[in-house]
Amino acid sequence: MTPRIDIDRLSAEIDSLALLSETPPPAVTRLVFSKEDQAARKMLGALFEKAGLEIRVDAVGNTFARWNGSDPARKPIATGSHIDAIPNAGKYDGVLGVLGALEAIRALQSSGFQPQAPIEIILFTSEEPTRFGLGCLGSRLMGSRLSPERAAELRDHDGKSLDELRAAAGFGSEPLASVAIPQGNYAAFVELHIEQGPILERENLDIGIVEKIAAPAALRVRFEGDGGHAGAVLMPDRRDASLGAAETALAVEHLVKSLGSSDGVGTTGIFKIKPGAINSVPFEATLEIDIRDTDHSARQAVEESLRSEIREICKRRHLLHEITTINSDPPAICAPALVEAAESSAREAGFTHRRMVSRAYHDSLFMALIAPIVMVFIPCRNGWSHRPDEFSSPSQIAKGVEVLARTLARLAS
Ligand SMILES: [Zn+2]
Repeated sequence: MTPRIDIDRLSAEIDSLALLSETPPPAVTRLVFSKEDQAARKMLGALFEKAGLEIRVDAVGNTFARWNGSDPARKPIATGSHIDAIPNAGKYDGVLGVLGALEAIRALQSSGFQPQAPIEIILFTSEEPTRFGLGCLGSRLMGSRLSPERAAELRDHDGKSLDELRAAAGFGSEPLASVAIPQGNYAAFVELHIEQGPILERENLDIGIVEKIAAPAALRVRFEGDGGHAGAVLMPDRRDASLGAAETALAVEHLVKSLGSSDGVGTTGIFKIKPGAINSVPFEATLEIDIRDTDHSARQAVEESLRSEIREICKRRHLLHEITTINSDPPAICAPALVEAAESSAREAGFTHRRMVSRAYHDSLFMALIAPIVMVFIPCRNGWSHRPDEFSSPSQIAKGVEVLARTLARLAS
């Protein structure tokens, strides 16, 4: 069986979806529950229906489109990704995993393949943290990694709660607790995604098969010192909060380098100082720190040492501090049997491939809590993502969709 991918149809659908954006092309901006997101959901719903898929939507807007199998006893094989996009992003991140999954199913249908197990596309709500400050909202709730009580309290920048916004979007009739899916519900989850890194392109390969997904721990650290006039407060008397923060940012770098695994990375991407005037000693500083690794214990070692180093810095500089964990998720290991299934599919299709690590996290990270998972990557130009010039060629996309189709067929047979 050779699934024949209609790349023109898929490319046209990717282009149409990209036009449902708050920013003009080529930029794509699609905030979850915005009118553009709603329009995109409507477009996908119509395409799912046209392909004869059975649709269900849960209380947070996660959408399930199922191709029924011939054996009712078999657990479904799931695939999918997200369609929300950060401000000024591109058109492939997430979307490829949803529209690509639909094309994979259509290709299998037209090849005459009949699945024994159901194949189900999942469109996850709010993978990007843009609106609620927390990534993978839909899959996190599905995997019971976020309690419904905490989720209900999440608010966007305008102070609107998730509860209010999901109701306005038409998903409010059931409680958030109903989103959770028990472990063992799915036989497998396979996510197709652009690599968002440079490795496949650099090595001139068609397909990446993910073995591990690195996961972030995100911390917010607030330092409190004493302000004053930059000319008048003498150096021995200072309690400069920004210097405690600066030393902490350097500590993140040296601790990740010394204690993290070779996949370990640490970034201090937010640095806010008050009052923020050139002639005033900073009395408050806030950092947000992102530490990632594929090795959970190495990441924990970095975090623990960082906490003790912050205590030591603050003691020496006479500062107060407060550390908030924004999130801390365990990395995921892909199921060896699924890695092999995807690899055999790539080999069978005659595509070049390698195993790799996903350094960005995805809905798969949370699906791993309830199902065996694997991810299939395709190259993207210069490894660029989350920017308007994000690009994968039609032939690169067609190969990824073919590997997905072959893998789904293998698993659903
Ligand atoms: Zn994504």
